[in-house]
Amino acid sequence: MRETALAPDTAWREHAACLEYPAVLFFGLDDSEAPAERRGREDRAKRVCSTCAVRRECLEYALTTKEPYGIWGGLTEVERRARQHGRIN
Ligand code: SF4
Repeated sequence: MRETALAPDTAWREHAACLEYPAVLFFGLDDSEAPAERRGREDRAKRVCSTCAVRRECLEYALTTKEPYGIWGGLTEVERRARQHGRIN
């Protein structure tokens, strides 16, 4: 499919550190995940993001498209919403 001028640039994905990891690390399995398990999983995912060469692009994409789930650019969905509402930087 051809990208339009309005479509976000996603070429950065080719350089994503998370390509080496299962998606479940960034999105979880289902709602049965216990809070402590979730925090541990999210911390592991954030450590991967901290090494990622395209972290800034990834976060910008998630904020622009209002991604509702998962770790993007090192932030959880709750952290991204808080950032968009000016509660954190
Ligand atoms: S910042 Fe994290 S979620 Fe985004 S591309 Fe990099 S490793 Fe993947």
